[in-house]
Amino acid sequence: MRKSTFSRREMLGHTAQLAVIGAAPILLNACTKPEFHCEDVSGLSKDDAGLRSALEYRDRSPHGNEKSCSSCAFYKAGGKNECGECTLVRGPIHPLGYCNSWAAKG
Ligand code: SF4
Repeated sequence: MRKSTFSRREMLGHTAQLAVIGAAPILLNACTKPEFHCEDVSGLSKDDAGLRSALEYRDRSPHGNEKSCSSCAFYKAGGKNECGECTLVRGPIHPLGYCNSWAAKG
């Protein structure tokens, strides 16, 4: 019978490495979970969609968090990880979004 060339310490090390490799897809999925989007304008009238487009609404503010929908006077927050609303721009509004009518909260 052939004697194993792995020591007990080496076997435990390999087992730990396999556990980390096995958990990698779960951890990767948690880190890359797609976040919500607020770009569905299918329920809007042509005029509302046109205004939204004219004001160049987008889900990501080019100015970062300091100047985004969540800090705008016209924003009405939705639930956690949900789109909010805007009193000027119809349709779903992302808290990190932005449009050209942004105004600081008073
Ligand atoms: S006015 Fe523009 S920046 Fe302000 S909440 Fe509405 S869509 Fe966002």
